[in-house]
Amino acid sequence: MTKKERFAYVISYFEQHAPNAETELIYDNPYQLLVAVILSAQCTDKRVNMTTPAIFDQYPDVYSLSKATFDDLFPLVRSISYPNNKTKHLIGMANMVVDDFGGEIPSTVPELVKLPGVGRKTANVITSVVHHQPNMAVDTHVFRVSARLGLTTNATTPLQTEMQLLKYIPKEKVHVAHHWLILHGRYICLARSPKCEECGLRPVCKYYQSIIRGNQLSLPKY
Ligand code: SF4
Repeated sequence: MTKKERFAYVISYFEQHAPNAETELIYDNPYQLLVAVILSAQCTDKRVNMTTPAIFDQYPDVYSLSKATFDDLFPLVRSISYPNNKTKHLIGMANMVVDDFGGEIPSTVPELVKLPGVGRKTANVITSVVHHQPNMAVDTHVFRVSARLGLTTNATTPLQTEMQLLKYIPKEKVHVAHHWLILHGRYICLARSPKCEECGLRPVCKYYQSIIRGNQLSLPKY
């Protein structure tokens, strides 16, 4: 099977089984999504969703958040991983959006990555979820699932995974493909024990095929 055929199978499978895949973070506008994505680093979406309502209640926009002090905001962020850094990042992000971007959350990756707490992955999430730009955010799920399926070959960094995926996924499907791979990794292709028996991608999955052949693939870690 060629790589092109494998991608075609995977895309068609997800189009059939998860046509409306979307982020599990709860948000109403780009500001709220950016706050939620910054908080979600090394933390589950579920935990973030339990935390954000109080933050959005107290800081409904970037202007109010820019005026928050560390001591004001920290108690609302405390239950999340890395609360110190995330508190500082949120306040810093809000200040930069107000000072340098006229209070509007930027809509391009090069602008977004200037904000505190925002790396390439977060910028890709914001631009693809809000604006449907063809940017692929690679988290641990996307990295793992892509490698197991054989959508990527010998990718050892998120950037390599991103580039290999973008080569084959049609531009207009990139924003939804990101959610397909994340949700598949979160619920089926689990890191420690993938639920291969429940997975409709077995016929094209390199990892599964290697298991049934008895020479399990060793895959890079991220
Ligand atoms: S067959 Fe197994 S390893 Fe392959 S994608 Fe499905 S769950 Fe993951």
